[in-house]
Amino acid sequence: MLNLPPLSLYIHIPWCVQKCPYCDFNSHALKEEVPHEAYVSHLLADLDQSLRLAPQRPVSSIFIGGGTPSLLSAEAMHRLMDGVRQRLCLLPGAEVTMEANPGTVEAARFEAYQAAGINRISIGVQSFSAEKLQRLGRIHGPQEAKEAARLAKRLGLLSFNLDLMHGLPNQTPQQALDDLRQAVELEPPHLSWYQLTIEPNTLFGSRPPVLPDDDALWDIYQRGHELLCAAGYVQYETSAYAKPGYRCHHNLNYWRFGDYLGIGCGAHGKVSLSDGRIVRTVKTRHPRGYMEGRYLAEQNDVEPQDRPFEFFMNRFRLLEPCPREQFGQLTGLSESIIRPNIDRALEAGYITESDTEWQVTKKGKLFLNSLLELFL
Ligand code: SF4
Repeated sequence: MLNLPPLSLYIHIPWCVQKCPYCDFNSHALKEEVPHEAYVSHLLADLDQSLRLAPQRPVSSIFIGGGTPSLLSAEAMHRLMDGVRQRLCLLPGAEVTMEANPGTVEAARFEAYQAAGINRISIGVQSFSAEKLQRLGRIHGPQEAKEAARLAKRLGLLSFNLDLMHGLPNQTPQQALDDLRQAVELEPPHLSWYQLTIEPNTLFGSRPPVLPDDDALWDIYQRGHELLCAAGYVQYETSAYAKPGYRCHHNLNYWRFGDYLGIGCGAHGKVSLSDGRIVRTVKTRHPRGYMEGRYLAEQNDVEPQDRPFEFFMNRFRLLEPCPREQFGQLTGLSESIIRPNIDRALEAGYITESDTEWQVTKKGKLFLNSLLELFL
Protein backbone atom coordinates (compact mmCIF):
# COMPACT_ATOMS: atom_id res chain seq x y z
CA MET A 1 0.00 0.00 0.00
CA LEU A 2 1.16 3.57 -0.64
CA ASN A 3 1.47 6.34 1.91
CA LEU A 4 0.14 9.46 0.22
CA PRO A 5 2.96 12.07 0.14
CA PRO A 6 2.40 15.86 0.30
CA LEU A 7 0.56 17.31 -2.70
CA SER A 8 1.61 20.47 -4.52
CA LEU A 9 0.25 22.36 -7.53
CA TYR A 10 2.13 23.52 -10.64
CA ILE A 11 0.53 26.15 -12.91
CA HIS A 12 2.03 26.82 -16.36
CA ILE A 13 1.82 30.18 -18.17
CA PRO A 14 3.09 29.43 -21.70
CA TRP A 15 3.95 32.82 -23.24
CA CYS A 16 7.18 34.82 -23.50
CA VAL A 17 7.96 38.13 -25.19
CA GLN A 18 10.37 36.22 -27.45
CA LYS A 19 11.93 32.76 -27.55
CA CYS A 20 15.47 32.47 -26.12
CA PRO A 21 17.83 30.45 -28.36
CA TYR A 22 18.72 27.92 -25.62
CA CYS A 23 15.19 27.33 -24.31
CA ASP A 24 13.38 24.01 -24.72
CA PHE A 25 10.60 24.80 -22.24
CA ASN A 26 7.03 24.88 -23.43
CA SER A 27 7.04 28.60 -24.16
CA HIS A 28 5.58 30.44 -27.13
CA ALA A 29 6.57 33.87 -28.42
CA LEU A 30 3.65 36.24 -27.96
CA LYS A 31 2.06 37.35 -31.21
CA GLU A 32 -0.66 39.44 -29.60
CA GLU A 33 -1.90 40.32 -26.11
CA VAL A 34 -1.98 37.51 -23.49
CA PRO A 35 -5.58 36.20 -23.26
CA HIS A 36 -5.57 36.89 -19.51
CA GLU A 37 -9.19 36.23 -18.60
CA ALA A 38 -9.80 33.34 -20.98
CA TYR A 39 -6.62 31.52 -19.96
CA VAL A 40 -7.40 31.85 -16.25
CA SER A 41 -10.89 30.40 -16.90
CA HIS A 42 -9.30 27.43 -18.68
CA LEU A 43 -6.76 26.95 -15.85
CA LEU A 44 -9.57 26.79 -13.29
CA ALA A 45 -11.62 24.39 -15.42
CA ASP A 46 -8.48 22.25 -15.84
CA LEU A 47 -8.01 22.32 -12.05
CA ASP A 48 -11.62 21.18 -11.50
CA GLN A 49 -10.92 18.12 -13.69
CA SER A 50 -7.47 17.45 -12.20
CA LEU A 51 -8.74 17.51 -8.63
CA ARG A 52 -10.76 14.34 -9.34
CA LEU A 53 -7.44 12.48 -8.94
CA ALA A 54 -6.80 14.02 -5.51
CA PRO A 55 -10.14 14.85 -3.87
CA GLN A 56 -9.95 16.52 -0.46
CA ARG A 57 -6.15 16.44 -0.31
CA PRO A 58 -4.59 19.64 1.09
CA VAL A 59 -1.98 21.42 -1.02
CA SER A 60 1.34 22.34 0.58
CA SER A 61 2.88 24.57 -2.13
CA ILE A 62 2.10 26.23 -5.46
CA PHE A 63 4.55 27.11 -8.24
CA ILE A 64 3.51 29.34 -11.15
CA GLY A 65 6.09 28.81 -13.88
CA GLY A 66 6.49 29.32 -17.60
CA GLY A 67 7.04 30.83 -20.02
CA THR A 68 6.80 34.18 -18.30
CA PRO A 69 4.12 34.25 -15.58
CA SER A 70 4.87 37.93 -14.92
CA LEU A 71 3.18 38.65 -18.29
CA LEU A 72 -0.11 37.82 -16.58
CA SER A 73 -1.93 40.95 -15.39
CA ALA A 74 -2.36 41.56 -11.66
CA GLU A 75 -6.17 41.23 -12.03
CA ALA A 76 -5.82 37.87 -13.77
CA MET A 77 -3.41 36.66 -11.08
CA HIS A 78 -5.93 37.68 -8.40
CA ARG A 79 -8.72 35.76 -10.13
CA LEU A 80 -6.47 32.75 -10.57
CA MET A 81 -5.37 32.65 -6.93
CA ASP A 82 -8.92 33.28 -5.64
CA GLY A 83 -10.21 30.48 -7.86
CA VAL A 84 -7.49 28.10 -6.69
CA ARG A 85 -8.21 28.84 -3.00
CA GLN A 86 -11.94 28.28 -3.57
CA ARG A 87 -11.29 24.86 -5.08
CA LEU A 88 -8.72 23.36 -2.74
CA CYS A 89 -7.42 23.58 0.79
CA LEU A 90 -4.12 25.46 0.77
CA LEU A 91 -2.24 24.68 3.98
CA PRO A 92 -1.50 27.66 6.25
CA GLY A 93 1.93 29.15 5.48
CA ALA A 94 2.08 27.35 2.11
CA GLU A 95 4.86 28.57 -0.21
CA VAL A 96 3.41 30.20 -3.36
CA THR A 97 6.12 30.96 -5.93
CA MET A 98 5.86 32.86 -9.18
CA GLU A 99 8.61 33.06 -11.81
CA ALA A 100 9.36 36.57 -13.01
CA ASN A 101 11.35 37.87 -15.94
CA PRO A 102 13.27 41.06 -14.99
CA GLY A 103 12.25 42.57 -18.32
CA THR A 104 8.56 42.43 -17.37
CA VAL A 105 8.68 43.63 -13.79
CA GLU A 106 7.15 46.80 -12.41
CA ALA A 107 6.88 47.66 -8.71
CA ALA A 108 3.11 48.21 -8.70
CA ARG A 109 2.42 44.88 -10.39
CA PHE A 110 4.72 43.00 -7.97
CA GLU A 111 2.82 44.46 -5.03
CA ALA A 112 -0.43 43.37 -6.61
CA TYR A 113 0.91 39.83 -7.13
CA GLN A 114 1.84 39.78 -3.46
CA ALA A 115 -1.67 40.94 -2.50
CA ALA A 116 -3.02 38.07 -4.65
CA GLY A 117 -1.16 35.59 -2.44
CA ILE A 118 2.26 35.19 -4.09
CA ASN A 119 4.84 34.98 -1.28
CA ARG A 120 7.98 33.87 -3.14
CA ILE A 121 9.39 35.16 -6.43
CA SER A 122 11.93 33.45 -8.64
CA ILE A 123 13.73 35.93 -10.88
CA GLY A 124 15.33 34.73 -14.13
CA VAL A 125 18.54 36.79 -14.02
CA GLN A 126 20.86 34.30 -15.84
CA SER A 127 23.83 36.74 -15.99
CA PHE A 128 24.80 40.29 -15.06
CA SER A 129 26.83 40.76 -18.25
CA ALA A 130 25.03 42.81 -20.90
CA GLU A 131 26.96 40.99 -23.62
CA LYS A 132 26.06 37.52 -22.30
CA LEU A 133 22.40 38.47 -21.80
CA GLN A 134 22.23 39.60 -25.39
CA ARG A 135 23.87 36.37 -26.58
CA LEU A 136 21.25 34.43 -24.58
CA GLY A 137 18.46 36.37 -26.30
CA ARG A 138 17.19 37.81 -23.03
CA ILE A 139 15.01 40.90 -23.11
CA HIS A 140 16.47 42.44 -19.94
CA GLY A 141 19.77 44.11 -19.04
CA PRO A 142 21.91 43.81 -15.87
CA GLN A 143 20.34 46.91 -14.30
CA GLU A 144 16.79 45.57 -14.64
CA ALA A 145 17.85 42.30 -13.03
CA LYS A 146 19.29 44.17 -10.05
CA GLU A 147 16.19 46.36 -9.76
CA ALA A 148 13.93 43.30 -9.75
CA ALA A 149 16.00 41.64 -6.99
CA ARG A 150 15.98 44.82 -4.86
CA LEU A 151 12.24 45.10 -5.34
CA ALA A 152 11.69 41.49 -4.28
CA LYS A 153 13.75 42.18 -1.17
CA ARG A 154 11.82 45.37 -0.32
CA LEU A 155 8.49 43.56 -0.54
CA GLY A 156 9.41 41.42 2.47
CA LEU A 157 8.31 38.17 0.84
CA LEU A 158 8.74 34.76 2.47
CA SER A 159 11.76 34.34 0.19
CA PHE A 160 13.05 35.06 -3.29
CA ASN A 161 15.29 33.22 -5.70
CA LEU A 162 17.71 34.33 -8.39
CA ASP A 163 18.22 31.99 -11.35
CA LEU A 164 21.76 32.22 -12.67
CA MET A 165 23.49 30.24 -15.44
CA HIS A 166 27.14 29.42 -15.99
CA GLY A 167 29.12 27.82 -18.79
CA LEU A 168 27.82 30.52 -21.15
CA PRO A 169 29.19 31.07 -24.69
CA ASN A 170 32.88 32.10 -24.45
CA GLN A 171 32.55 32.64 -20.70
CA THR A 172 35.76 32.68 -18.66
CA PRO A 173 35.84 31.40 -15.06
CA GLN A 174 36.44 35.01 -14.00
CA GLN A 175 33.26 36.19 -15.72
CA ALA A 176 31.21 33.35 -14.22
CA LEU A 177 32.49 34.14 -10.72
CA ASP A 178 31.82 37.81 -11.27
CA ASP A 179 28.15 36.98 -12.01
CA LEU A 180 27.97 34.96 -8.80
CA ARG A 181 29.53 37.77 -6.73
CA GLN A 182 27.00 40.27 -8.03
CA ALA A 183 24.17 37.84 -7.26
CA VAL A 184 25.41 37.30 -3.70
CA GLU A 185 25.58 41.09 -3.13
CA LEU A 186 21.81 41.24 -3.71
CA GLU A 187 21.36 38.84 -0.75
CA PRO A 188 18.81 36.41 -2.20
CA PRO A 189 17.82 33.73 0.36
CA HIS A 190 17.91 31.18 -2.52
CA LEU A 191 20.12 30.82 -5.60
CA SER A 192 19.62 28.38 -8.48
CA TRP A 193 22.94 28.07 -10.29
CA TYR A 194 22.61 26.04 -13.50
CA GLN A 195 25.08 25.07 -16.19
CA LEU A 196 23.89 25.99 -19.69
CA THR A 197 23.20 22.84 -21.69
CA ILE A 198 22.55 22.72 -25.39
CA GLU A 199 19.23 21.05 -26.09
CA PRO A 200 18.08 19.62 -29.44
CA ASN A 201 15.21 21.51 -31.09
CA THR A 202 16.54 24.90 -30.00
CA LEU A 203 18.35 27.57 -32.00
CA PHE A 204 21.58 26.79 -30.08
CA GLY A 205 20.98 23.10 -30.89
CA SER A 206 21.09 23.80 -34.63
CA ARG A 207 23.85 26.45 -34.43
CA PRO A 208 25.86 25.60 -31.30
CA PRO A 209 27.86 28.43 -29.73
CA VAL A 210 31.42 27.95 -28.42
CA LEU A 211 31.15 26.92 -24.78
CA PRO A 212 33.89 26.73 -22.12
CA ASP A 213 35.80 23.40 -22.22
CA ASP A 214 35.53 20.76 -19.48
CA ASP A 215 38.54 22.11 -17.53
CA ALA A 216 37.09 25.61 -17.46
CA LEU A 217 33.66 24.25 -16.45
CA TRP A 218 35.21 22.28 -13.60
CA ASP A 219 37.12 25.38 -12.48
CA ILE A 220 33.91 27.46 -12.55
CA TYR A 221 32.00 24.84 -10.58
CA GLN A 222 34.68 24.34 -7.90
CA ARG A 223 35.41 28.01 -7.32
CA GLY A 224 31.74 29.02 -7.58
CA HIS A 225 30.74 26.37 -5.06
CA GLU A 226 33.42 27.66 -2.63
CA LEU A 227 32.28 31.24 -3.14
CA LEU A 228 28.65 30.34 -2.36
CA CYS A 229 29.59 28.28 0.71
CA ALA A 230 31.74 31.15 2.02
CA ALA A 231 28.74 33.48 1.57
CA GLY A 232 26.59 31.24 3.82
CA TYR A 233 24.71 29.25 1.18
CA VAL A 234 24.22 25.50 1.56
CA GLN A 235 23.95 23.34 -1.54
CA TYR A 236 21.02 20.93 -1.19
CA GLU A 237 20.56 19.77 -4.78
CA THR A 238 22.81 19.66 -7.87
CA SER A 239 21.96 23.27 -8.83
CA ALA A 240 20.17 24.64 -5.74
CA TYR A 241 21.74 26.68 -2.94
CA ALA A 242 19.91 28.28 -0.01
CA LYS A 243 20.55 30.11 3.21
CA PRO A 244 19.53 27.93 6.20
CA GLY A 245 15.73 27.73 6.42
CA TYR A 246 15.15 28.86 2.81
CA ARG A 247 15.14 25.67 0.72
CA CYS A 248 12.38 25.65 -1.90
CA HIS A 249 9.59 23.45 -0.51
CA HIS A 250 7.94 23.03 -3.88
CA ASN A 251 11.06 21.64 -5.56
CA LEU A 252 11.90 19.55 -2.50
CA ASN A 253 8.53 17.86 -2.91
CA TYR A 254 9.37 16.89 -6.52
CA TRP A 255 12.77 15.53 -5.53
CA ARG A 256 11.35 13.61 -2.57
CA PHE A 257 8.96 11.84 -4.97
CA GLY A 258 6.00 13.83 -3.66
CA ASP A 259 2.75 14.30 -5.57
CA TYR A 260 1.79 17.28 -7.73
CA LEU A 261 -1.07 18.32 -9.92
CA GLY A 262 -0.04 20.14 -13.10
CA ILE A 263 -2.42 22.55 -14.82
CA GLY A 264 -1.89 24.72 -17.90
CA CYS A 265 -0.29 24.06 -21.30
CA GLY A 266 2.06 21.06 -21.26
CA ALA A 267 2.05 20.79 -17.44
CA HIS A 268 3.05 17.45 -15.94
CA GLY A 269 1.45 15.87 -12.85
CA LYS A 270 2.12 12.86 -10.64
CA VAL A 271 -0.46 11.58 -8.18
CA SER A 272 -0.47 8.54 -5.86
CA LEU A 273 -3.88 6.96 -5.42
CA SER A 274 -5.25 5.12 -2.39
CA ASP A 275 -5.67 1.92 -4.47
CA GLY A 276 -1.85 1.72 -4.89
CA ARG A 277 -1.64 3.20 -8.40
CA ILE A 278 0.71 6.08 -9.27
CA VAL A 279 -0.57 8.15 -12.17
CA ARG A 280 1.32 10.59 -14.38
CA THR A 281 -0.53 13.19 -16.46
CA VAL A 282 0.54 15.56 -19.25
CA LYS A 283 -1.61 18.45 -20.44
CA THR A 284 -2.00 19.66 -24.04
CA ARG A 285 1.14 21.58 -25.00
CA HIS A 286 -0.05 24.19 -27.45
CA PRO A 287 -2.18 27.09 -26.19
CA ARG A 288 -4.55 26.74 -29.18
CA GLY A 289 -5.52 23.14 -28.42
CA TYR A 290 -5.50 23.72 -24.68
CA MET A 291 -7.82 26.71 -24.96
CA GLU A 292 -10.29 24.65 -26.96
CA GLY A 293 -10.89 22.83 -23.67
CA ARG A 294 -8.87 19.68 -24.44
CA TYR A 295 -6.73 19.79 -21.31
CA LEU A 296 -5.55 16.23 -20.72
CA ALA A 297 -3.17 14.93 -23.42
CA GLU A 298 -1.84 11.79 -21.68
CA GLN A 299 -2.45 9.80 -18.53
CA ASN A 300 -0.36 6.74 -17.65
CA ASP A 301 0.17 4.50 -14.67
CA VAL A 302 3.75 4.24 -13.38
CA GLU A 303 4.28 0.49 -13.51
CA PRO A 304 5.96 -1.23 -10.53
CA GLN A 305 9.10 -2.06 -12.58
CA ASP A 306 9.59 1.65 -13.38
CA ARG A 307 9.10 2.94 -9.84
CA PRO A 308 12.62 2.33 -8.40
CA PHE A 309 14.29 4.38 -11.16
CA GLU A 310 11.70 7.16 -10.87
CA PHE A 311 12.08 7.26 -7.09
CA PHE A 312 15.88 7.38 -7.08
CA MET A 313 16.15 9.67 -10.11
CA ASN A 314 14.45 12.31 -7.98
CA ARG A 315 15.75 11.36 -4.58
CA PHE A 316 19.48 11.05 -5.39
CA ARG A 317 19.56 14.61 -6.78
CA LEU A 318 19.20 15.76 -3.19
CA LEU A 319 22.24 15.89 -0.96
CA GLU A 320 20.21 15.10 2.19
CA PRO A 321 20.07 11.42 3.25
CA CYS A 322 17.18 9.32 1.98
CA PRO A 323 15.20 7.54 4.74
CA ARG A 324 15.06 3.87 3.64
CA GLU A 325 11.48 3.43 4.81
CA GLN A 326 10.31 6.05 2.28
CA PHE A 327 11.17 3.76 -0.63
CA GLY A 328 8.46 1.30 0.43
CA GLN A 329 6.02 3.97 1.56
CA LEU A 330 6.13 5.96 -1.68
CA THR A 331 6.58 3.20 -4.29
CA GLY A 332 4.51 0.45 -2.62
CA LEU A 333 7.42 -1.99 -3.27
CA SER A 334 9.53 -4.06 -0.90
CA GLU A 335 13.17 -3.02 -0.43
CA SER A 336 14.19 -6.61 -1.25
CA ILE A 337 13.38 -5.88 -4.92
CA ILE A 338 16.17 -3.30 -5.19
CA ARG A 339 18.66 -5.06 -2.88
CA PRO A 340 20.96 -6.17 -5.77
CA ASN A 341 20.94 -2.62 -7.25
CA ILE A 342 21.68 -1.03 -3.87
CA ASP A 343 24.54 -3.51 -3.33
CA ARG A 344 26.08 -2.56 -6.68
CA ALA A 345 25.79 1.16 -5.80
CA LEU A 346 27.50 0.45 -2.45
CA GLU A 347 30.30 -1.52 -4.12
CA ALA A 348 30.91 1.31 -6.59
CA GLY A 349 31.17 3.79 -3.70
CA TYR A 350 28.25 5.89 -5.01
CA ILE A 351 26.23 5.65 -1.78
CA THR A 352 26.60 4.65 1.87
CA GLU A 353 23.99 2.81 3.89
CA SER A 354 22.98 2.78 7.56
CA ASP A 355 20.11 0.92 9.24
CA THR A 356 17.78 3.78 8.41
CA GLU A 357 19.22 5.83 5.53
CA TRP A 358 21.04 5.93 2.20
CA GLN A 359 23.41 8.79 1.52
CA VAL A 360 24.90 9.78 -1.84
CA THR A 361 28.70 10.13 -1.61
CA LYS A 362 30.89 12.73 -3.34
CA LYS A 363 31.63 10.14 -6.01
CA GLY A 364 27.91 9.37 -6.42
CA LYS A 365 27.23 13.07 -6.87
CA LEU A 366 29.91 13.31 -9.57
CA PHE A 367 28.71 10.19 -11.38
CA LEU A 368 24.98 10.66 -10.81
CA ASN A 369 24.02 9.24 -14.23
CA SER A 370 26.04 6.05 -13.62
CA LEU A 371 24.44 5.71 -10.19
CA LEU A 372 20.94 6.08 -11.63
CA GLU A 373 21.64 3.62 -14.46
CA LEU A 374 21.99 0.93 -11.78
CA PHE A 375 18.26 1.28 -11.14
CA LEU A 376 17.11 1.13 -14.75
S1 SF4 B 1 12.19 33.67 -20.92
FE1 SF4 B 1 12.53 31.61 -20.02
S2 SF4 B 1 10.79 30.37 -20.71
FE2 SF4 B 1 10.82 32.23 -21.99
S3 SF4 B 1 11.94 31.62 -23.83
FE3 SF4 B 1 13.43 32.55 -22.40
S4 SF4 B 1 14.24 30.81 -21.21
FE4 SF4 B 1 12.39 30.09 -22.24
